[in-house]
Formats: sequence, C-alpha cells, structure tokens
Amino acid sequence: MTQVLTLSCRLKVSQSQAAKLDATLDAFGQALNWVNQNTPEKIVNAVKLQSLCYREIRARFGLSSNLAVQVCRRLAGARKVARQKNRPVKAFKGGFATYDARIFSFREKDWTVSLTTVEGRERFELAIGHYQREQLAGSNPKSATLVKRKDGSYSIQICVEAKLPEQQNTARVIGVDLGRTDIAHTSEGDNWNGQQLSKIRDRYSKLRAVLQQKASKGTRSSRRRCRELLQRLSGKERRFQSRQRCVAKTWVNHRISKAIVSRAKATNSAIALEDLTGIRERVNQQPRSKTERRRANSWAFYQLRQFLEYKARVAGVSLILVPPAYTSQTCHRCLHIHPDPEQSYRSGKQFKCGHCGWEGDADLNGANVIALLGAAVNQPGGPGLFCSAERNKLRATESPHSFA
Ligand SMILES: [Zn+2]
Repeated sequence: MTQVLTLSCRLKVSQSQAAKLDATLDAFGQALNWVNQNTPEKIVNAVKLQSLCYREIRARFGLSSNLAVQVCRRLAGARKVARQKNRPVKAFKGGFATYDARIFSFREKDWTVSLTTVEGRERFELAIGHYQREQLAGSNPKSATLVKRKDGSYSIQICVEAKLPEQQNTARVIGVDLGRTDIAHTSEGDNWNGQQLSKIRDRYSKLRAVLQQKASKGTRSSRRRCRELLQRLSGKERRFQSRQRCVAKTWVNHRISKAIVSRAKATNSAIALEDLTGIRERVNQQPRSKTERRRANSWAFYQLRQFLEYKARVAGVSLILVPPAYTSQTCHRCLHIHPDPEQSYRSGKQFKCGHCGWEGDADLNGANVIALLGAAVNQPGGPGLFCSAERNKLRATESPHSFA
C-alpha cells in the first residue's frame, strides 16, 4: 500500500541562481494573475485556458513552454476549488511555481534536483535530513512545487509515493474508547480528558446562555447591550476564539493519536476502535444521549479517528473497527450485556457489573470490551461480526479485517 507524501526540501541556491529563481517565480505569479483577469471566469478547463493564452503567456512573461502549461493548470485548479466554494479566485500572491516531470527531475546519486527557470535549466543541491533521504531514495517523483519562503530561502515540495511498512500480525489488541467521558481511554488504562478544552468551551457556552436570557428579560437598555454583545460573540470574536479552539483540539488530537500508535507499535499490538461510520444517518432518527450525538457528529472526534487511522497505517500498526452496539453496557470481565439491572449501575464515570461484581471506570470497561471484540477478529474462523476500517474500498479483496 502506498500513500502520497509531500516532502519539503530546502534548496542550496547560489546568488546567480537566486536571481533566476526569483525571475521565474515572479513571471509565474504575474502570468497566473494575468490569465485570471483576462479570461472568462467560467473557464475551468486547463486545456481551454491553454488554447486561449499559451502564446500570450510565453510572449509576455518569457516562461518556458511547460511552465506556461503549468500556469493554465494551476489556475484551472484554483477556479475549480473556487467554484465549489462559490466565490471568485483571489489574486495570487506569487512566490510559488508548479512543476511536472518535463521541467523537474530528481537525481539520487548526488541528491540534486534540476528545475527549468526563465533562463534555462538549473541544478540545485537539496539540504535535507535522514527522513527526506529515506523517502526520496528509489523514488521517481513526477511533480513538485517551488516555493520562496518568507525568510528568503527556497524550497521544493516534492510529491512522492511513500512505501508503507507491512502491517504487523498480532493477537494483542489495544482497545480505544473515544469521546465518552474522556476524549480517549485505552484498555491499558491510559486516558486523556479534555479538561482544558471543555473549560474553554463551557465558558463560552455559559456566557452565551446567560446573555441570551438577559437579552429576553432585563431592562430595555440591558437587553440592548446583551444583544450587541451576543452579536459580537457570534461574529469576529467568536470566529477567532473558535479558531483557537480548533487549533488546540488539533494539537491535542495529534498528541493522543501519536501516543496510542507508538504504544501499539512498541507492544506489537493492533488498535481496535468502534466503527461509527454511518451512525449519523442510522441513529439520528432515534433520540440519543448528548454524548452519543457528540461522538458521532463532532469534527474533533472525527479528526482524532482520522489521525489514528493515518498514523497507524504509516507505522504499520493494524487497525480494527468493531461494531459500537453495547460496548458501554457490556461487562468486559464476564461479558454479560446489561448485567442484572437491579445490582449494576453506570453513573457518570463508574460502572458496576451486577453479575460478577466488577466495579471501575466506565471508559476503561468500554475500552476493554472494544479490545476483546478486536481480538476476536484475529482468531481464525472468527464470527465475522467485525468490519474493516476500509470496508467500502476493500470489499473485493481477500483480507476484510485489516488494511491491505
Ligand atoms: Zn461482569
């Protein structure tokens, strides 16, 4: 299995080369804006743009034949994205140029790339570390983007197909319960609770609730003030705050997924998660608890699952998805579902089994049930109750239970 990676590689550039790169980047940026301004916005086809502007681009901006083609492609791409988002293409700021195999090549024996500029072909040494060398070795990259950074340095972003390690075959499984009372809880007892995140979230939702109440009651002037404040919260400020929260959540999700995947790698374990795909469509008709709605619909939990899947794949850790039904109501020790309701309870974070008497953290219990379900997958002739992470894409292949 492969994955497309973009490797950012710094270029070693002499002074005379820098002038040539600058001239190329300038010409590329100007050509993009010129074509954008001088062709009807509705044309999103690169070949059509090319037939309209090719000669003009070459004559006006001195770009090589293939760089002129790249200008049309890049603009066509930008227009397609803009059309999807229903807005016009913004002016290009420049500082980049796209390359394909005709005007860019990579040479492994001396770790150099050769690029077409407005003044002919130039060769540049790559200033790169072990990681980039490892990924570039033996690769035959076909496309790249030349970028000038704010600090004045140049780098080339090379697209390569990364070789992924073989999935490890193992009977050990770490179960991960996502988003119940904690952000994540593993069957080994590790847990991450978003106290910091929910504190921020709560503060804003409380503030809004108070303001909404005051805006409907209160004296006339306080009603007006509250309305104004609410409006401000819903506008610029809230956008800023919510962006901050997104950044914070993304950071937390990276850390959690990294920790879980490296633990699995180190202990030669697979990772088991609940399969929540499609739960949105299936379950929304029925009344559900607030927690369940959040687990299925929140982008933060979706992102965490994506990160886990991606990092597991890159690390060669296999990932198993198990059905989510009853994971929180099953006792992981005696496997009774809904154990004797008279004697069992689940209040907040506590779970007590009315059958065997096990008592402890509800998320830990859930994670262990998920681990047990996941482990059943690895047993030969398993019950076939379980589905693969890439079920839809892999339907026809021989191994339904792990990444191919
Ligand atoms: Zn029990």
